[in-house]
Amino acid sequence: MEEARIPNKIGRILLMAVEGTIGSDNLQTILARAGLRHLATYPPDNIEREFPTGYVSRLMTALEEIYGVGKGRELAFRSGRRSFHLGAQDLGLFLDLAGLTFPLLPAQVRAKIGLETLAEILNRFGNQGVHITQENASFTWVVERCGICQGRTTTAPCCHFLTGLLQETLRWSTGGDSFSVAEVSCTATGAPHCAFQVHSGPSARRAGDE
Ligand SMILES: [Zn+2]
Repeated sequence: MEEARIPNKIGRILLMAVEGTIGSDNLQTILARAGLRHLATYPPDNIEREFPTGYVSRLMTALEEIYGVGKGRELAFRSGRRSFHLGAQDLGLFLDLAGLTFPLLPAQVRAKIGLETLAEILNRFGNQGVHITQENASFTWVVERCGICQGRTTTAPCCHFLTGLLQETLRWSTGGDSFSVAEVSCTATGAPHCAFQVHSGPSARRAGDE
């Protein structure tokens, strides 16, 4: 089976997010550890599907190997947060949500629109099979083909990059920390898909929150 690939631009944003979080010297260490030294030259800024999805999980694995599991996942979480802003800037995403009426909508509605917008983007660029279900005040974000943990085996959910991306999407959409995100099942632990629970209410203090 041919290896799944995502657009160069998305791989580039991911690398920039990690570099912004840990610094360029440390990024070189991570790339060497992951056997991806050639990525020191970022992929071109275009939407050709040439960036293997498997690179993403190798980077996440290397973060945990170099920094330890706890710290590595915290850094992945922070990189995920950062990627929201890089993506929003680069792709011009979410800008149409920043219109005059959007801030007047209830937080619940804004959260939903933010999540749906992100899901559409990830499905379009990443073929992730994302769908969202809602029950009262909480949402479940399900990823059928998660590129963050692809091929990994872990004892606990490990897609902290995506948790960070979701948390920042919600923060931006609702204008504050009124929603919290937790990964409740993960393909890497043997679950059929990765799933994230989104609750209204501020997140309990957690690693990586600043
Ligand atoms: Zn995953």
